[in-house]
Amino acid sequence: MKRRHLLGWLAGLPLFKSLAIQADQTSADQEDSHSKAPQSSDTPTVKSEPAVQVGRLGKPRIAVVGAGALGGWAALQLQQQGAQVTLLDAWDPGHTRSSSGGETRVIRHAYSALHHVRLAARALQLWRQASKAWQLPLLHQSGVLFMAGQQGATFLHNAAANLQQVEIEYQLLSQEALQRRYPQIAVGDIELALLEPQSGYLLARRACAAVVEALRREGGVFRHALARPGHISAGQLQSLELDGQGSLQFDHYVFACGPWLGKLFPELLQKHLQITRQEVLYFGTPAGDRLHDETGLPVWADFGERIWYGIPGSDRRGFKIADDTRGPVFDPEHDDRRLSDKGLDAARAYLQHRFPGMRGAALIDARVCQYSNTPDGDFIVDRHPQAGNIWLLGGGCGHAFKHAPALGELLATTIMAEQALPLDYRLSRFDGGLTQTA
Ligand SMILES: Cc1cc2nc3c(=O)[nH]c(=O)nc-3n(C[C@H](O)[C@H](O)[C@H](O)COP(=O)(O)OP(=O)(O)OC[C@H]3O[C@@H](n4cnc5c(N)ncnc54)[C@H](O)[C@@H]3O)c2cc1C
Repeated sequence: MKRRHLLGWLAGLPLFKSLAIQADQTSADQEDSHSKAPQSSDTPTVKSEPAVQVGRLGKPRIAVVGAGALGGWAALQLQQQGAQVTLLDAWDPGHTRSSSGGETRVIRHAYSALHHVRLAARALQLWRQASKAWQLPLLHQSGVLFMAGQQGATFLHNAAANLQQVEIEYQLLSQEALQRRYPQIAVGDIELALLEPQSGYLLARRACAAVVEALRREGGVFRHALARPGHISAGQLQSLELDGQGSLQFDHYVFACGPWLGKLFPELLQKHLQITRQEVLYFGTPAGDRLHDETGLPVWADFGERIWYGIPGSDRRGFKIADDTRGPVFDPEHDDRRLSDKGLDAARAYLQHRFPGMRGAALIDARVCQYSNTPDGDFIVDRHPQAGNIWLLGGGCGHAFKHAPALGELLATTIMAEQALPLDYRLSRFDGGLTQTA
């Protein structure tokens, strides 16, 4: 039942709803538009008395806390659907400690859950529109190649069935076909491969910044502030408390705080969210080599005992690889971000095994990021059980970046058109329905 509910929502989405972005603005125009970004009477003023207010022209006033991929896109979609949005972040959009930082993220459709395939398909449309309209190379459709030994073959078969159902282009490749096509891969233990030619990768921190620019052009406001929920009474949050800057009142409050979300709502969320340390490594390709950048190799994922994945080229940063296995528990704000020796050794051993041409390659960069994991690997999009005007958006689980435009659209439609939320993303799924949202 609940799958049908979500699929129904996805099926009802307007396929090419206009993003209404001014396509022809140069970066100079964009700079200019910052200074002209309306700090209008719709911009909430600092007040001490809590009161729910509706902005000028009757627009609902909505605060979005967190300008990562999820908060940024939710803010933009809300603004486009008629709200007056203030987006707040304690740091910059896509900053290095956020989960949306760094250069690139994979966008793929191969999932074993059909609702993720549909969500990714809608997101790809929105990413493509945004890249075109904003004249930024945010989306690189260099293809995504999945490789599987015995362990991953079932996943690939399920994913292929889902791709077929949603009419996403894909090719299945035998070991021989894979070897012919990509001689730089050592295919010995690979049984099956699946190529998605229309997928690829996204620019991560640059996209977060671009979304905030688009929000400003649409009349939304971005503000630097550390924010936390104020007092809840009568089933409503009464204010947003800003560190050293007083409090603000809005009609709705969206918290999209990534790995910080559990800290803001510890009683409600900490048991459902585990933050883990994830290492990402960049290796240098041989001089003159084109076999290991995006001209010679698509984005890839390798389903063996562990899931390794990589983004060749990665916006000219090198041969990016990472192990998707969940690392130790991690504090996004205070923990150390140096690469571990164990991580480096494992990556080198993997490279030598799968990409012999990269044997002995120099490590040229490394980053530590964090996943926000839920028990079932799916996202959280829900109201707070005690406050009907608090919306929670998070639980990215290492795969939400690509979906951000579609999740933002889902949340915006839910708030603005008062649509029911899909059950797949609600908190009640974790405790068999005990958590009743307001
Ligand atoms: C190593 C790694 C690889 C990944 N690879 C992929 C991939 O290939 N494809 C994919 O789709 N996804 C991928 N993901 C997952 C994806 O990047 C995340 O799910 C997504 O970026 C999460 O975005 P977010 O907006 O929820 O969180 P964040 O980007 O962390 O944003 C949260 C924001 O909230 C702000 N904030 C927090 N608390 C407060 C507060 N109290 N007041 C004000 N501001 C606050 C923070 O400063 C931050 O900017 C990967 C993640 C990692 C770590």
